[in-house]
Amino acid sequence: MIREELVFVATCDVSGHVRGKGFPARELPHRLAKGIGWTGSNLMMSPAGPIWDTPFGTAGDFMIVPDPGAEVRVDFGDGSAVEHFFLGDMCTTDGEPWECCPRAFLRRAVRELEAVAGLHLIAAFEQEFVYTGTDDRPGDAYALGAFRRQGNFGEAFIAALRAAGVGPDSFLAEYGARQFEVTVAPQPALTAADHAVITREMARAAAWRLGHRAVFSPKPDPDGVGNGVHIHMSLWRGANEPATYEAGGPMDLTTPARHFCAGILHHMPAICALTAPSPVSYLRLVPNRWAPTLIDLLRQDRGACLRICPVFAAATPDEVARQFNIEFRAADAAARPYLALGAIIFAGADGIRRGLPLPDPIAPAPSLPPSLDAALDHLAASEAARGWLGPTHLDAYLRFKRVEAEKVAGLAPAELCAHYAEIY
Ligand code: GLU
Ligand code: MG
Repeated sequence: MIREELVFVATCDVSGHVRGKGFPARELPHRLAKGIGWTGSNLMMSPAGPIWDTPFGTAGDFMIVPDPGAEVRVDFGDGSAVEHFFLGDMCTTDGEPWECCPRAFLRRAVRELEAVAGLHLIAAFEQEFVYTGTDDRPGDAYALGAFRRQGNFGEAFIAALRAAGVGPDSFLAEYGARQFEVTVAPQPALTAADHAVITREMARAAAWRLGHRAVFSPKPDPDGVGNGVHIHMSLWRGANEPATYEAGGPMDLTTPARHFCAGILHHMPAICALTAPSPVSYLRLVPNRWAPTLIDLLRQDRGACLRICPVFAAATPDEVARQFNIEFRAADAAARPYLALGAIIFAGADGIRRGLPLPDPIAPAPSLPPSLDAALDHLAASEAARGWLGPTHLDAYLRFKRVEAEKVAGLAPAELCAHYAEIY
């Protein structure tokens, strides 16, 4: 059959889906400048597909401009079409960033942290998902047998990640039924978020070629564990100076790292609406599921919202400082990595700017919002978040998410999980 290579240019949209448009690869040189056409209401495509409500109507034009630094071209070598796509920026037709562009939001957060503290953040995403191409057997948690029975998926997935320029760190059979986890190498914030998106797409691309799915829904089954997205973060000064660890300080954190964490905890009720952004996210954030339920910072505790991670076989204090990282555990794959990480950085930078102290370790920690609606109430009331997102983006986001919550309000937990497992 005759074939001509196609390229896709995409944005990771409000629903967390990767959406955009394709064109012949030979048109790439002029598409790199002109992008592809997009419209305001494209932002309002629900996770289920239809635009339920939009402040933008049918008017207005934007473009998604491909970023040459976020190109993926992976040939799976099985005769299937090459996976060739770019992640891009949502711009006005003049080429200026649109205020609702998720990558522009994260860039602003990065600039804010630099301006407030002279620091930048390195992040690594650890993501869990269900692979449908294997069976569920008792005793499978972390088992070599479960690792083996996923067959060729793992190797195809890891090879695809490497070909896409993402550094695979680990791949394992997780605790849940047919659940797997992948962690990729740390990168500066924008690249880390791009890599989180690419990681999900490469899992889906490898699974699809094998006739199966990689399901990233935050909670595929109400009685099981959820699929978390854990974001490992460290602060750095200049090119190469670690700025998170200080031996003997509270929690072994440097002063700016302490304020950074305090800022995240302070803004957590609001930013939860961005990091755990779907109705089903709140079935994951329940007790005894290795997921957070409280707004807390704990050392080496997998139930924490912010977990101080261990360091391994570090022979020198310098190695400890380089490995030391904090894990944000209240995110999932319904979230755009750009919005989740951007909100965390903005919140942390605000903590540094205001010199916020860590909460009293003796006082009981407050609870995370119990539902998306409760989190959205906090987000709507947050003047800080309005400043970070800008009024157009925040209002569109609230409108989008309120309708999403309303659409599934009548579903029982099992129905809600089944619905979102189809979508993510
Ligand atoms: N599956 C758990 C979650 O929902 C995390 C398990 C782990 O600690 O890796 O976040
Ligand atoms: Mg895990």
